[in-house]
Amino acid sequence: DAGEIKILLLENVNKSAVELLTKEGYQAKQHAGSLQEAELIKKIQNVHAVGIRSKTKLTKKVLLEAKKLLVIGCFCIGTNQVDLEAAAKQGISVFNSPFSNSRSVAELVIAEIIGLSRQLGDRNNEMHRGDWHKVSNKCYEIRGKKLGIIGYGHIGSQLSVLAEAMGMTVYFHDIIQIMPLGSAKQLSSLHELLERVDFVTIHVPETNETKGMIGDSEIKLMKPGSYLINASRGSVVQIPALIKGLKSKHLSGAALDVFPREPASNESNAFNSELNEWTKDLLECKNLIMTPHIGGSTEEAQHMIGLEVAGFLVKYINNGTSIGAVNFPEIDLRAIPAATQNSCRLLFAHKNVPGVLKEINDILSDHNVEKQFSDSRGEIAYLMADISDVTLEEIRKIYEHVSTTKANILT
Ligand code: NAD
Repeated sequence: DAGEIKILLLENVNKSAVELLTKEGYQAKQHAGSLQEAELIKKIQNVHAVGIRSKTKLTKKVLLEAKKLLVIGCFCIGTNQVDLEAAAKQGISVFNSPFSNSRSVAELVIAEIIGLSRQLGDRNNEMHRGDWHKVSNKCYEIRGKKLGIIGYGHIGSQLSVLAEAMGMTVYFHDIIQIMPLGSAKQLSSLHELLERVDFVTIHVPETNETKGMIGDSEIKLMKPGSYLINASRGSVVQIPALIKGLKSKHLSGAALDVFPREPASNESNAFNSELNEWTKDLLECKNLIMTPHIGGSTEEAQHMIGLEVAGFLVKYINNGTSIGAVNFPEIDLRAIPAATQNSCRLLFAHKNVPGVLKEINDILSDHNVEKQFSDSRGEIAYLMADISDVTLEEIRKIYEHVSTTKANILT
């Protein structure tokens, strides 16, 4: 019964989530901030789901106390604040929202392309100092210019559409073959892209291949007078190489939203040479726009994150659907059967050891299994089966027979 589901929402999770979960009939309790360990342990013991953002630490110690917890919703991008392995071992699925802010990032990059092309950062700084410095030298329209996108995923492809609408010609490079949107063209090598375009913008994940991917030699390959934008991950661009490129005027400008080391929280003077040794040199560069990792930080993105993660929670709680989980096997089945006295959906999270499926299927073989699917991820396996003609007593037998981490029955 939905009314019995208790959800604890911390850190001012967006109201779009609260509305969706309440509409579903769950008991959602909100808390404005994050909770320290002792209070968290107290509050988490009786809830079936918890919603957090980046500040609440769901450690193994906390999770071990969360005896009723089925699912964790991270209403943000990162999931480092949760011990994902400990959660999986307890049969707790974890969801996040990696792509809800793609549009916000793409829009920021459009602003940066125009901002760099018109030297807006420098003019703005001069005006704030009281200086009037009207120039048109080396200021350009972006219409007709070439944009090179490295990584044509959620953000890169969204940006491609917006840039074409502004009259730019779009090229992209990606490690997989992707159907270009609009009139964009995929180039097979990174070098070809760097040599060809006026603006290079990076939208790749952080991987072994992308760490330090833009260094001295890549910047040298870029056209004289071109611009570099990074709103992906701070480790992708080697900052000393960028500083060299800007100071030598080989590059006409750059925009950075992400940095190799970023302050953990908002604080005056936190972005300094103690954090990154090259800060002083970087601050001396002309036509450099810097922002504190705000690419995805908009009200719209928060709203979308609320809807997406709350949607994952509802589907998991109501149907057992784990598609989108970051620590759990991802499975789903067609529509749940109509609830009748003798039919149920069996959701069974168990240790990924030989023999469990045989044991379950031996027990289920007396019944009509309408649909069944199972998958594993590391040490955890998850089985979903729609069964008709089964009694609760028989389902209880399954619990007794196999070494479970957690099992749930939806009727
Ligand atoms: P995505 O997974 O949808 O797309 C990434 C693309 O990069 C994929 O198409 C992938 O094939 C490609 N790729 C991977 N390795 C590559 C390589 N070596 N060379 C070329 N292409 C490669 O990711 P996304 O949602 O578009 O996000 C892109 C980046 O933006 C991520 O690093 C993410 O962390 C970052 N991001 C930043 C902000 C911000 O606030 N600045 C917000 C959201 C995401």
